[in-house]
Amino acid sequence: MFQTNAFRLFLFGLIVAVVSCSSSKQNHSVYHKKPKKIILLIGDGMGVAQISTLFLEKDNTNNFKRFKHIGFINTRSGSHKITDSAAGATAFACGEKTYNNSVGMNMDSVAINNLIEVCSAMKYTTGLVSTSSITHATPASFFAHTKHRKFEFDIAKQLLKSDIDFFAGGGNDFFKEMRSDMKLYDWTIDTSSYQDWKSLVFDSNKKYGYLLAGQGLPTMEAGRGDFLPEASLAALNYLGNRKSFLMIEGSQIDWGGHANDYDYVFTEMEDFNKTVGVVMDYAEKDGNTLVIVTADHETGGLSLNAAPYKDKDGNIRQDYDKVSTSFNTGGHTAELIPVFAYGPGSHHFQGFYENNEIYNKILDLMK
Ligand code: MG
Ligand code: ZN
Repeated sequence: MFQTNAFRLFLFGLIVAVVSCSSSKQNHSVYHKKPKKIILLIGDGMGVAQISTLFLEKDNTNNFKRFKHIGFINTRSGSHKITDSAAGATAFACGEKTYNNSVGMNMDSVAINNLIEVCSAMKYTTGLVSTSSITHATPASFFAHTKHRKFEFDIAKQLLKSDIDFFAGGGNDFFKEMRSDMKLYDWTIDTSSYQDWKSLVFDSNKKYGYLLAGQGLPTMEAGRGDFLPEASLAALNYLGNRKSFLMIEGSQIDWGGHANDYDYVFTEMEDFNKTVGVVMDYAEKDGNTLVIVTADHETGGLSLNAAPYKDKDGNIRQDYDKVSTSFNTGGHTAELIPVFAYGPGSHHFQGFYENNEIYNKILDLMK
């Protein structure tokens, strides 16, 4: 009896060893493959609750379900338990935790190299797409260095001199006094609010900038339409088959959270989800593209609760089949933030780590 069981165990062990050995051989090359193109999507203010709204209301078209490699980041900044968007984006872009309001500067207000500067020196072509002003804290941290995020005229100047090759967003107000400089730095700038993104033809030797609003772009509720998915695809079209880094920001999930306006948050999440979808379609076809989706922090303390109701005796009870939404704050929260990754190198983004490690993980894959 004992011998039979031992023999069965031995056989089982042998089978497991053979199966895992052959599958690890199969995965070996995929596991060590490095991406040629890296796309970082940031949903500003997008925590687990914001993502959960898609599972509740958009389950069939929820593109977050397409990711297999998922991690969590701790987002606290160098100065505060709760980060702002400048310190949060600087952690991603420059690899250091810094004080709230800092754009591309360390705790001592010294400029630190960002991913765009480092990878441009390695012959990467780079782009930024954002639904806020392109000079706003999140995109700014990828090309500028200022002690405070509010210096948006200075940030605009720095953008023109930066290594960025393509950008699309709002912020025209901050560039108005520099029209002649734009030509000086060889930019092709377009400020017409309507773009037929699909028909644009790009010269890969030129730098393109789209400034489509004075400051932030309109909300989805006010008719922004498909700017984010379409401008992101146009950026991918421009970057083509070159080594590239593209940052795409859904900026206004955060603004909906600050306004404690659920419909604002949800419509911005729908737009971001759609953008994740077109980027994933691209990456799946391409095979050499790493997609990373994360957020700088959560905004609003959004919670999805069992809806309260009064029973026949007048007692407050909860209906577990009905979800009501509420916000706990007009500011940001300290919640852990999920990281979703797809493509070559995506397994590096699993586990629990600090927000600034995103920088090192991306850089290691670029080297
Ligand atoms: Mg932002
Ligand atoms: Zn915010």
